[in-house]
Amino acid sequence: MIKIPDYVTAVLTCLQNNGFEAYVVGGCVRDSLMGITPHDWDVTTSALPHETMAALQQYTLIETGLKHGTVAAVVNRHPVEITTFRIDGAYTDNRHPDEVCFTRNLKEDLSRRDFTVNALAYNPQSGLVDYFDGLSDIKNKVIRCVGEPDKRFGEDALRILRSLRFASALGFCIEEQTAQSLVNNRFLLRHIAAERIAAELCKLLCGKQALNILLDFSSVITEIIPELKASIGFEQRNPYHIYTVYEHIARSVDAIPPTIPLRLAMLLHDIAKPACYTEDADGRRHFYSHQKVGTEMARVILNRLRIDTHTISQVCTLVKYHDMDLEPSEKCVTRQLNRFGEEVFRELLLVKRADNAAQSEYAQSHTKMLDELELVLEKVLEQGKCFSLKSLAINGSDLIAAGVPQGVQIGETLRHLLALVMDGECENKKDELLARIPYKDTLD
Ligand code: ATP
Ligand code: MG
Repeated sequence: MIKIPDYVTAVLTCLQNNGFEAYVVGGCVRDSLMGITPHDWDVTTSALPHETMAALQQYTLIETGLKHGTVAAVVNRHPVEITTFRIDGAYTDNRHPDEVCFTRNLKEDLSRRDFTVNALAYNPQSGLVDYFDGLSDIKNKVIRCVGEPDKRFGEDALRILRSLRFASALGFCIEEQTAQSLVNNRFLLRHIAAERIAAELCKLLCGKQALNILLDFSSVITEIIPELKASIGFEQRNPYHIYTVYEHIARSVDAIPPTIPLRLAMLLHDIAKPACYTEDADGRRHFYSHQKVGTEMARVILNRLRIDTHTISQVCTLVKYHDMDLEPSEKCVTRQLNRFGEEVFRELLLVKRADNAAQSEYAQSHTKMLDELELVLEKVLEQGKCFSLKSLAINGSDLIAAGVPQGVQIGETLRHLLALVMDGECENKKDELLARIPYKDTLD
């Protein structure tokens, strides 16, 4: 019923041959039962860490997790994490157990795990070990705490976000009592390290049910990003919009492909609207400069969440230019390709599409414009049109040879010639470009 890869079976067999119990456990069992191929396989065992190491000495062993009872064995180049059955000691900081105790009892290990769907163990000899009805929760698509939710969220508040993350990623509902408790305990999230919050938030945002989770658990989301509070219930009173700012944000997240930079960009793209709004005499609302203010807010938030600097700059660019005007002309497309490069420009188009998709019927004319623009983009790229200095048929050395003095003038001249090519005023050919060097006559 669960197909375990050979390299994992090898680990189970080794441990069992040495007299220990060993099972695959957690996410890999859950995913297998759902028909999803697990991305990694975790093993839980009655062997103490030194016993695990002795039993698996034929393999390369990595001991970095030893203090939590985890040894990684590399089998046929696949790392497998093997953790000793564990009971977590008391939790006094809502984060870590004060101590970790090993046990020889599988049920004790499974009862410390966060959700019933993650508390399943399996090996071919014993079959599925399911003390908490995890299988029926998988069938009914339910996330439910193992044990008393208040106690479990109090022990480790990261579980609050993990429950939202699993619901979003797996497309599950959160059981009533678990949902109530996680909302009540959301303030405990402030004890959790930013990196761990960010990792769960990103997985939540990239899940297939991100929209529902963002809408149903907005109070938890604003616990992590208080700057989003003002957007909840904030009416836009503008013909382009039928949703409040927060609902528009949530819908736009759902409308963009699930990569971390794109989803973060949608989550933050309109964050400054409530701070930037003005109302005209007709009661219509405008949000001048919200892109610029929003970019700075996004930078602060993402830094606080300890997101890597590359992603931060990617997201900030997308937030900054999400509202820029475009038209489906070659001139416009070439200019934008020059400004952003193909990859970022394509991302911006995805952002604009997602933004539109979360707006009113009235705004859908923009979607048609984007369709046309993308046709132009493909044509421009196919024709190999020049939109960067790199593909210009002339370079700095050519200019120096033609007598342009070294220094800033070289760069300026190249940019001037590139602009001529992009605007269709000069062909991208060396001779023609040389003839168009400004003030060429005075150089000789
Ligand atoms: P993923 O597909 O994201 O890897 P996973 O279920 O394997 O999902 P991990 O974070 O890799 O999640 O954790 C492995 C297992 O360890 C979980 O299935 C769960 O049993 C247990 N676990 C992880 N984090 C916690 C926690 N904070 N509290 C209790 N149990 C946890
Ligand atoms: Mg895992």
